[in-house]
Amino acid sequence: MMKIKRTIKYDADRVQGFGREIMGVTGCEQLPSCIQCGTCSGACPLSIYMDFSPRQVMALVRADFKNEVLSSNTVWLCASCYACTVECPRQIRITDIMYALKQRAIKEHVYPRHMPIPILAKEFAKMVLSKGRITETLLVLQLFLRANWRAVLSSWRLGLGLIRTGRFVIKPERIERQAELAAMLATVNGNGNGKAKS
Ligand code: SF4
Ligand code: SF4
Repeated sequence: MMKIKRTIKYDADRVQGFGREIMGVTGCEQLPSCIQCGTCSGACPLSIYMDFSPRQVMALVRADFKNEVLSSNTVWLCASCYACTVECPRQIRITDIMYALKQRAIKEHVYPRHMPIPILAKEFAKMVLSKGRITETLLVLQLFLRANWRAVLSSWRLGLGLIRTGRFVIKPERIERQAELAAMLATVNGNGNGKAKS
């Protein structure tokens, strides 16, 4: 059953300019034309688990309810399946808006702390930036250590078995000319000082 939040919101809860900032991100420009038809929520296979449906997120962003949106689980449950984007009658790129919100939540450290997905996204980006590619085993290890370190302890037998059979790569993998990739990512992120944004 959908766990939709129905708390009363006040004008004082709004963070003026937030909606405009998100709509300024490439791919999010069409948001003002949302007619709140709810097609996106109907198409979304995960909306029943979200605390705000995709339609509600669109309305909250437009109305500057920054804290509500960034602390919700919706953007982290979004699986980027693009079903909403394909169905939207106003050609709003809802999935891209979800990406913009994820980036903003990570940047401001306001994502739900209990959720492993933001941790995974952050560690993934960090690894790609520093090595040019990910090492799956190290990524999973980082995720467990940060999200649920007890799970690491309870899985030590499995870990040993994977190391013995050569399936658990401990040595970080890296690409050649990683510095060039880092510079390219920094440019894409609009950060020309050589450091890419997370
Ligand atoms: S389907 Fe498009 S127009 Fe309809 S509520 Fe969702 S974002 Fe708005
Ligand atoms: S892209 Fe995200 S919000 Fe859109 S339908 Fe898929 S899971 Fe739902």
